[in-house]
Amino acid sequence: MATIQTATGPIDTADMGFTLMHEHVLVQWPPILQQYPEKTDRNHLMERAIQKLTAAREAGVQTMVDLTPIDLGRDAAFIKEAAEKTGMQIIAPTGLYYSTPFYFVGRRDHEMTDLMVRDITEGISTTGVRANVIKCATEPEMHPMNERVLRASARAHRETGVPICTHTFPENRTGLDQQRVFKEEGVNLSRTVIGHSDDSDDIDYLDEIIQNGSYCGMDRLGLPRPRSDEERADMIAALVDRGYANRITLSHDAACYMDMLTDGLADERIPQWNFTHIAKTIIPLLKERGVSDEAVHQMTVQNPRDIFERAGAY
Ligand SMILES: [Zn+2]
Repeated sequence: MATIQTATGPIDTADMGFTLMHEHVLVQWPPILQQYPEKTDRNHLMERAIQKLTAAREAGVQTMVDLTPIDLGRDAAFIKEAAEKTGMQIIAPTGLYYSTPFYFVGRRDHEMTDLMVRDITEGISTTGVRANVIKCATEPEMHPMNERVLRASARAHRETGVPICTHTFPENRTGLDQQRVFKEEGVNLSRTVIGHSDDSDDIDYLDEIIQNGSYCGMDRLGLPRPRSDEERADMIAALVDRGYANRITLSHDAACYMDMLTDGLADERIPQWNFTHIAKTIIPLLKERGVSDEAVHQMTVQNPRDIFERAGAY
């Protein structure tokens, strides 16, 4: 048992329940938001968020981890309001995307770490929302500007004890590069989730990630490329067969709204890519493949709880 922060205040990890470990409320490009405000209708987006989060609640989702980095328009006030209006327990993020943002190019690395630590210990801006997870990313491969962000994230993690959840490009096996940097920074890999692992068709790569101590985030369920749901379910079942149910988390990497896509396009072209897809479709696919109810519970309830319970600075 431990207390963690959500956008609407502290909760006990015992109350997390069915948890999606990698989703987004809003993903927006800050320069467009700032300089073309007429492109965004906040009320309309809030209506949509309420609708999508309510559907998720009705499908049994109790907690959602929002992994939108600072530089992709993380909006803590919006997350908080959407959580209040729907009852979804949303864990808010800090962290940066895959390259050092221009702001930090000529600054010292600890300035990146300091912002993350502030979000976690004091709160994001004036919203009162405290972040409880650190997002970082590597795409399409590790480069020096990316490594800076990963090291800054690792230090913020050790200073605060909140978990790290990543974005990878598995085709280039970048999860292993991330693990190398985290280990060099003294990170206990059991406090990390290597994300987008279900985009991989290489079971040896995923086995190595798990053997090294991280969780595999199988968190793009519902996205038809680069792997179908059936292929993703096959891989999860194969890993469960190897005894790894206690090292896998499930999610969709979906969003209430993502401004990189023309409005409505995702709902029209990939309607299954939403917060209810695991509950409605993926779990039945896993059961067809012999995955037990116990293993499903482990991946959707127990592992998220364990990840957030393993708290504390070190
Ligand atoms: Zn994501």
